[in-house]
Amino acid sequence: MSRLTGHSVAPLARLALTLGLLGPVAASAETETASYLEPLPSPIVTKASAASRSAGLGGGQCLAEVARRKLGVTRWRGPAAGVASPVRVTGPIAGVRFVTPGRKSPYGILDCRLALALADLAEVLKRHDVVEVQVDNMYRPHAHLPGKKKPSQHSYGLAIDMTRLKRADGHELVVERDFQGALGEPVCGAGARPELESDALQLRDLICDVARSGSFHHILTPNHDAAHRNHFHLDIARGARQRMID
Ligand SMILES: [Zn+2]
Repeated sequence: MSRLTGHSVAPLARLALTLGLLGPVAASAETETASYLEPLPSPIVTKASAASRSAGLGGGQCLAEVARRKLGVTRWRGPAAGVASPVRVTGPIAGVRFVTPGRKSPYGILDCRLALALADLAEVLKRHDVVEVQVDNMYRPHAHLPGKKKPSQHSYGLAIDMTRLKRADGHELVVERDFQGALGEPVCGAGARPELESDALQLRDLICDVARSGSFHHILTPNHDAAHRNHFHLDIARGARQRMID
């Protein structure tokens, strides 16, 4: 794994950025990783961002896109109230294995549009040598935000809770054990905790690179609240105006 202290953006890309030709997503070099202490791009969501492109697709468009990209998901025709285009994971997604709850559990169902975001996520995971993800749940029927009436993105199959990440060398990064978080601390950027052990450092670099990729609107870590002490929550939300990682 190559770990750089910062982005290395080619001169032409830098010029394009200066001229405003490329959005913040393109600002992170596609093949490299950055330190979690590097600043994140603007949280303002543009319609052209990866997350908003995925979230804005219609069901038919999305199913055609996952077929074209040969993503390992299969249409689910069982019950999934609230999920616009339900699918289940049946194979690798962009080369990464997402280990999901089995066919008897609704937690293994996801909306097709989340599958596209997972394909974007897989590209970041591979840059960090991660080949397998343990998924606690995606679709949770009627899930609400804690203490609120507002539905959680899980109720639409548009959110994923990941508990463990396995590297190509077999080593596992366990969010609950290895994240070294603290409630209320910034996750990424100059205000984040400066000293981390190696597994914590890798988890932190990885999740901050996911934030940089713009593939999700909301990312919650153990720093967010006690309910997230053991997983990363990532979701896409049609109409989201701001990205957040907390
Ligand atoms: Zn969640």
